[in-house]
Amino acid sequence: TVLGDRELALRERARHVIPGGMYGHMNVAAFSTAHPQFMVSGDGCRVTDADGHEYLDLMCGWGPVVLGHRHRGVNTAILDQLQRGDCLDGTSPLAVDYAELLVDTVPSADWAMFCKNGTDATTTCVTTARAATGKRKVLVANGAYHGAVPWCSLRGAGVTGEDQAHLVHYEYNDLASAEQAAAEAGDDLAAILVCPMRHDVRRDQELVDPAFARGLRALADRTGAALILDDVRCGHRLDLRGSWEPLGVRPDLTAWSKALANGQPLGAVTGTDALRDAARSIYVTGSFWYAAVPLAAGLATLRELRKGQALPDMLRTGTRLREGLAAQATAHGYGIRQTGPVQMPVLYFDGDDDLSVGTAWAEAAAKRGVYLHPWHNWFLSAAHTDADIDEILERTDGAFTDLR
Ligand code: PMP
Repeated sequence: TVLGDRELALRERARHVIPGGMYGHMNVAAFSTAHPQFMVSGDGCRVTDADGHEYLDLMCGWGPVVLGHRHRGVNTAILDQLQRGDCLDGTSPLAVDYAELLVDTVPSADWAMFCKNGTDATTTCVTTARAATGKRKVLVANGAYHGAVPWCSLRGAGVTGEDQAHLVHYEYNDLASAEQAAAEAGDDLAAILVCPMRHDVRRDQELVDPAFARGLRALADRTGAALILDDVRCGHRLDLRGSWEPLGVRPDLTAWSKALANGQPLGAVTGTDALRDAARSIYVTGSFWYAAVPLAAGLATLRELRKGQALPDMLRTGTRLREGLAAQATAHGYGIRQTGPVQMPVLYFDGDDDLSVGTAWAEAAAKRGVYLHPWHNWFLSAAHTDADIDEILERTDGAFTDLR
């Protein structure tokens, strides 16, 4: 598959009316010459571009699609609610149903609030922590992504020093650096913000050291700061109860989005009783935060996930993919590194400092009909079957051959 006529025509039109032709994480110009910018449909673990080319999907909408595109149960709930209305004058009762189900699912959650994007959720967590403590400083890991607004943007353009004046940085998995950052914040420390694992772009993923997670919990307890878990990317793909629940480390506040509603726009903040009053005191809202359709999708998605089959399925297919890629790399004579949980994989070539080999391989995969990314982690869904993984592997084997 090469980029088709419709794709090229759309790019040309977009160039005139959309700055740079596209923006943000889905701007293909930032990572590929072979991936289509435009997609028109999806089904299960396949997506189709504007020219009708089908791709086996290893990005899943960059995370949200955890059950597969057009999952029947979720789509039935979406269409059913859509027939009755979406954006009404008051909140859908589904918000109460969904809050109850989240609180029942997530042990660290005594309450839930809903929003749209992950950025809404992380921002609401930080605002809640500042309201609760009356303090300003927030510890964040170097290189960690928490959203695309000035207080946390990783891109400097348009951002002022004042926007990020109250961030103090630490190194992920380095407790001493977090303690040093807390000391720097002194008696002005509101929150410690952390992702369940290190999943920064352009580098190997790094699982959390349990001692680091426990150390941050103790640091928060000692200083009175809120421990905020940014579970936007990992949430409901690693552990339904929250990604640090297996470690026994419970955050005070958790930011959720991406996989909550299988692709419908829904984010959430959950928190403990101790932060309930602070959450009530802040003013956060949005025109679309109360929409009924995403809540219906969220409920249907969580009910499906709670049946317990999706996560083990992703573990199995993710392992099959990882082992298959490892064997192919060896057979073709490449040293590669696959890091992070198997359901959120990423692959780098040894010695590929400028990522040119990884990019060429990802582009070869795209041409062979597999959609994956050279330097952002991928996502599996419960719609991937063993047979789909085998089909993906057949094509990636070809991509390794194409590298020669
Ligand atoms: N936090 C993390 C860990 C994320 O991965 C993302 C999105 N990639 C965000 C926050 C921001 O979410 P959104 O793009 O939905 O605003």
